[in-house]
Amino acid sequence: MKKDYSQYFRRPSTKAARKRTTEDVQTIDFDSHLNIKHLGQGKHYLIQTYGCQGNEADTETIKGLLHQLDFKETTDERQADLILLNTCAIRENAENRVFGELGRLKQYKKSNPDLLIGVAGCMPQEESVVDRLLMKYPYVDLIFGTHNIYKIPEYLETAMLAKERVIEVFSDEGSIIENLPKKREFSHKAWVNIMYGCDEFCTYCVVPYTRGKERSRDPKQVIEEVKKLVLDGYQEVTLLGQNVNSYGRDFIDKDYTFSHLLNDLAKTTIKRIRFTTSHPKDFDDATIAAIAEHKNIMPHIHLPVQSGSNKVLKKMNRKYTKEAYLTLVDKIVKAIPHVSLTTDIIVGFPEEDDEAFEETLDLVNQAHFEGAFTFIFSPRAGTPAAAYHDTTSNVVKKARLQRLNTVINQGYLKGNKRFENQVVEVLVDGESKNKANILAGYTEHNKLVNFEGDCSLIGKIVRVKVTEAKTWFLLGERHE
Ligand code: SF4
Repeated sequence: MKKDYSQYFRRPSTKAARKRTTEDVQTIDFDSHLNIKHLGQGKHYLIQTYGCQGNEADTETIKGLLHQLDFKETTDERQADLILLNTCAIRENAENRVFGELGRLKQYKKSNPDLLIGVAGCMPQEESVVDRLLMKYPYVDLIFGTHNIYKIPEYLETAMLAKERVIEVFSDEGSIIENLPKKREFSHKAWVNIMYGCDEFCTYCVVPYTRGKERSRDPKQVIEEVKKLVLDGYQEVTLLGQNVNSYGRDFIDKDYTFSHLLNDLAKTTIKRIRFTTSHPKDFDDATIAAIAEHKNIMPHIHLPVQSGSNKVLKKMNRKYTKEAYLTLVDKIVKAIPHVSLTTDIIVGFPEEDDEAFEETLDLVNQAHFEGAFTFIFSPRAGTPAAAYHDTTSNVVKKARLQRLNTVINQGYLKGNKRFENQVVEVLVDGESKNKANILAGYTEHNKLVNFEGDCSLIGKIVRVKVTEAKTWFLLGERHE
């Protein structure tokens, strides 16, 4: 019987994405018994990944699926039979880069009419993006979102064999798909998703619409994944979630939270555990205690504050105050005195006047951050903040960002200086991009270190004496 390929036309719906149901989350085991196993034989793929660690982890799954279909990876666009852009919707800039890239990639369609171009990730979850792709980029063959990566084999079958365009974006799905194949980028450190989606609805953020409702993975599955990574020789895992501190909030059959998961994972023999991202309102005492107690939970906490003004925080729907944030910082520092704290800050949010900005600078000074991602507010279609009245000029926003960055950079340097002349443990990632024989890796506090060494050290944890602290990295020498 001829397969009906017309089924693959499903556009996103912001209205559906906004909804949160109380229905139980389904966990589905991925069926890897594909009858199109050799679809990619002799073919090459290239993936460009934009945005956060969640997208990087998704790219590893996409690659895993493509390798199951016998595709091979290439970095040469002329050799590629499939080019996929795994996109990010968090800022307008990132979206513009993707549209620019699609314009540039069109040339390869002329030289290779069989080339498939696909757009995946967060951007297709937005109605306006799909409309624009449909109207202005007719040569894009595949459009799918964050919820249906596991269906890539079907989509490729449709696009390659039936020569049909595939557009399928789910807005209301809430399943967890387990046992998807992964082709991990590193063999010593790995991303581990502990949950998907977000229910916070910060007013500037598209994630609750692009990634769906909050769904926590069963702790047994997470623990098994980490144990297997240990057996495979991995040294470090980074637990991923939009708000890891709310892990388990959706369990209806057990009282199991993020701190329970940290404690259980710390008992595995994994050498290093990191996690991102945290939400200050849900960062509880039990989590602080778990980090303080276990040596293999790294003493670096990325704790996005976004603003130091209570008025702005309220407009952002962050659900904490400047005072509550600083109290939390205080508790963390008391329990983990050597901790390294980093943050995210948005400058120029609607209603951020001079006084509100000064509050942010004041908070930054009090919290002693050792790094931050700082951005000028970028309105995202469909979010409440996009409709807020914004009276601050771009010139003022840029000047504020510059002032903020000056303070943040002082924090970076100060945070690095405290390790001068100390011996630190470094997980070696690889060779430095700029110099041969120079290795690069990260300390427990997530500080980048460069030191001279042999490639055989890549993937290992080694001791390094810090000889000099720069603003963005440390210089050191091997210490036996
Ligand atoms: S917590 Fe807020 S900023 Fe973070 S993903 Fe959720 S809505 Fe976005």
